[in-house]
Amino acid sequence: MFPAEFINGLRESLGPLRAERILSALSQEPEVSVRVNPFKFTLGDLRAHFGALAGEAVPWAPEEGFYLNGRPSFTLDPLFHCGAYYVQEASSMYAGSLFEQALQHIGRRTGLRVLDLCAAPGGKTTQLLSHLDETSLLVANEVVPARATVLAENVARWGCSNVAVTQSDPSAFPAMRAYFDVVVADAPCSGEGMFRKDERAVAEWSPDTVRLCAARQRRILGDVWPALMPGGFLIYSTCTFNRSEDEDNVDWICSELKGSCLEMRHFYPGEDRGEGFFAALIRKEGRR
Ligand code: SAM
Repeated sequence: MFPAEFINGLRESLGPLRAERILSALSQEPEVSVRVNPFKFTLGDLRAHFGALAGEAVPWAPEEGFYLNGRPSFTLDPLFHCGAYYVQEASSMYAGSLFEQALQHIGRRTGLRVLDLCAAPGGKTTQLLSHLDETSLLVANEVVPARATVLAENVARWGCSNVAVTQSDPSAFPAMRAYFDVVVADAPCSGEGMFRKDERAVAEWSPDTVRLCAARQRRILGDVWPALMPGGFLIYSTCTFNRSEDEDNVDWICSELKGSCLEMRHFYPGEDRGEGFFAALIRKEGRR
């Protein structure tokens, strides 16, 4: 069912036991989880709304996300349409925790400039907005036009006015030299962590795809780096497992672009309740 090179790579990097656990989890049903919009609803009210379906809190985002014990028809729910919550895969909510860490290092959460570079459909964008107040600006960018439209719709539903949706290639951002306090690059990747949710990711996967994705990620990161202020923070994430797109790219950022990695973490189905995800918090060299 999965490509042999993918299975072998997982066994080599994680050992046979962990690889088998992850592969077996990839054949099971994915978890369903939601994240509250704090500007519209309380977590308690959202849990009450879902009633018996409301399950455990997402461990790395307990104040905003929880699992559902089943998949309701979200499109029939008026609260979904009015942006009271976002249906977001649990592992990726970890980006919010890294963002909080960045804000702690910066020492304030007001008057900040934040860029979400690869933003559609808006999971990270809406989560970042939940952690900022109206004195901060979030630029939510998506290069693919049709996806930028979906992003704009989800941002409108969230209901914040301190966000601008743009549709630019990453190479446009160096013009905003040293402008952003925090940049989030949730990069397009080979999608190994989404294999149980997205059959297309399995069909399109190959060692060549991994190589192409890793090279594209470096291009994107190199393009956007000048727009991050010295001493600013980059959150780099993918939804894939392999080293080339994850740890090797973090090493490359630190050595070539000049930064230091403060934290990085992998999430694996079968070990964490969610899909595969990788995220790192990197501080750019220099003083703010
Ligand atoms: N951050 C989003 C969220 O949380 O909902 C998910 C982003 S998805 C992993 C990666 C995004 O990068 C996609 O929307 C894709 O269209 C966009 N993308 C594709 N090619 C790109 C490129 N060359 N430069 C920048 N973004 C690209």
